[in-house]
Amino acid sequence: MNDLLKKYLLPDHSTRVQIVRLEQAWQVGLAHQSYPVPVQRLLGELVAASVLLASNLKFDGSLILQLQGDGPVALVVVECTSELNIRATATLRDGHTVPDSGTLQTLLNSQGQGRFIVVLDPNQKTQGFQPYQGVVPLEGDSVAQVLEHYMASSEQLDTRLWLTADAQHAAGMLLQRLPDHGGLHQPQAKPDTQEATTPTAAETWERLLHLSATLKQTELLELDSDTVIHRLFWQEDLLTFDPQPVAWHCPCTRERVAQMLQNLGQSEVDSIVQERGSVEIVCNFCGKPYHFDAVDCTGLFTGATQTGLPPDATVH
Ligand SMILES: [Zn+2]
Repeated sequence: MNDLLKKYLLPDHSTRVQIVRLEQAWQVGLAHQSYPVPVQRLLGELVAASVLLASNLKFDGSLILQLQGDGPVALVVVECTSELNIRATATLRDGHTVPDSGTLQTLLNSQGQGRFIVVLDPNQKTQGFQPYQGVVPLEGDSVAQVLEHYMASSEQLDTRLWLTADAQHAAGMLLQRLPDHGGLHQPQAKPDTQEATTPTAAETWERLLHLSATLKQTELLELDSDTVIHRLFWQEDLLTFDPQPVAWHCPCTRERVAQMLQNLGQSEVDSIVQERGSVEIVCNFCGKPYHFDAVDCTGLFTGATQTGLPPDATVH
């Protein structure tokens, strides 16, 4: 069974294990987008990562992960809601080619100006959580390494990720030490009262890392999640949670596109209408077309107010 996030916990609650393998949700997302193989892989790995991380959000809203590049790839962006609805898109830079041998560093960080951006975007009705944005350099040779660096430096969480993707599947596994059990900067002494035979959280973490070291990307792509977990952790007494379904869903609407045009400004929109007679917009995430004729465009700026919504779409 695919398109499910599966979560497990060690009996001492010191470490979480999560795994996801997307099939239809990933293929629906790719259906209207065509990328060179290395870009498709980066996008799929970021999608798998976003599901693994968004499932632990403590608010209703979205996790947005962005790789901003200075090379042939300008942007890879993935959004996953707390309900595990995903959407993702990539933007290539005009005039550049993407070689099959392209890596995260050569495609996104060729001049050292690449950035990894994490946005936590609570729904408006979510009380008590403020939007958050973290920006770090692109450190590492893979999406997994970039995220591991981010989690260690910004979230203070010791995290390991295995990520992979091809045209059929996007998949990933996460190991994470929980904050109360020896996060990075909380070395834990073994309590005097503890039985000598009971492993500490640190020992459990090292044991899981050792067991996971054999995991290959081909296994994540080709095997169902239960088989992967069983192969790695068959001798562990994992606590199991109900699987959570993952779906591709783009929440773009005509209203959001209209707000984007309002943000663009009346003079800009007027000049497009004068030049082309109307404004044609295609959602970058789902490919849905939106048509605004001259009358629609005039109406946009009658008593309209500007919003801070991110640009989802491109004027064509
Ligand atoms: Zn859309």
